[in-house]
Amino acid sequence: MPLNVGVVLSSTYRAGGDILYGREGNSAWSALEDVVGRLEGGRCLVFSSGIAAVAAVIETLPAGASVVVDQGSYNGTRRLLADLAGRGRLRWTAVDTTDAGATLDACRGASLLWLESPTNPKCDVCDLPALIGGAHDQGVAVAVDNTFATPLLQKPLEMGADFVVHSVTKLLAGHSDVVLGAVVARSDALIDALVDRRTLHGAIAGPLEAFLALQGLRTLAVRLERAQANASVLAHRLVEHPAVTRVRYPGLASDPGHALARRQMRGFGSMLAFEVPDAGQADAVCSATRLAVNATSLGGVETLLERRSRYGFEETTPAGLIRVSVGIENVEDLWADLGSALDALGAPAG
Ligand SMILES: *Cc1c(COP(=O)(O)O)cnc(C)c1O
Repeated sequence: MPLNVGVVLSSTYRAGGDILYGREGNSAWSALEDVVGRLEGGRCLVFSSGIAAVAAVIETLPAGASVVVDQGSYNGTRRLLADLAGRGRLRWTAVDTTDAGATLDACRGASLLWLESPTNPKCDVCDLPALIGGAHDQGVAVAVDNTFATPLLQKPLEMGADFVVHSVTKLLAGHSDVVLGAVVARSDALIDALVDRRTLHGAIAGPLEAFLALQGLRTLAVRLERAQANASVLAHRLVEHPAVTRVRYPGLASDPGHALARRQMRGFGSMLAFEVPDAGQADAVCSATRLAVNATSLGGVETLLERRSRYGFEETTPAGLIRVSVGIENVEDLWADLGSALDALGAPAG
């Protein structure tokens, strides 16, 4: 027996087995679903991307349903909701989920509360148990995008969430080599509805991508431990740097999300954000680093940084905010790189 799961590259199967056609299943997906499902504590389905996983959950809602989402959650999720609302498919309300009372007020009559904690990119932390419980009291289902925390740091299903969504592209796969997504749920009825969405819409994962994600998952714990330790060091040093006006990292005692993160997370993660006074200075920092790469995406072994306000749907993101996905490099090398990029901001022109 081989140690690794096989990658079956076959669109069709001989009649008589469990799978008839490649859109219905694959042995590499099943292995990945088994692992992510066990980590989150539910049944998992993999999708072709994180946003396909988001879309599959949204598609389970009836026409005209109303969705409440954080105003600073991942821009792709809000872009999708805006697109669907623009075509009359559903309604949506953007709120500040760090205000649990206002969020639960906005949930009145809604079908789904979409949570993300910490948020991408501002690293806001919301009170997951309070929001999940309060939404359920009103009959509102709750989905949690757990991409930033991973199941090693936070388990939303254990807190009562109905769906957990992942961009597997990010920390779970961890090597910036695949685009993949996953949904995990406990209810068989919800999983059956999602299987239908996946089979009908065809947003399926490739077997090779699933294999690569399985390979990446094997080192998630050690990668995350190192990246998180690096993030903590960088966050504390960024706070001390004169060119930096604000640092967001739930591990900082001064962060507004710190107390909540201590309660609901097992660690503070590998994502942080910091601000310099304006977009021009943020661009200067991002283009001055040599080890940290100026690029989008996150969760790989290499440190990436980018100015998020360069995108649309980032209305609440400060112009000079730089999101940092901290990698597993030597932290002194990282600080030498980032620190000197910041020092250059203060240097006299010419
Ligand atoms: C990247 C990301 C997504 C979308 O995932 P893709 O794999 O890029 O489709 C969803 N949520 C969060 C928080 C993300 O960072």
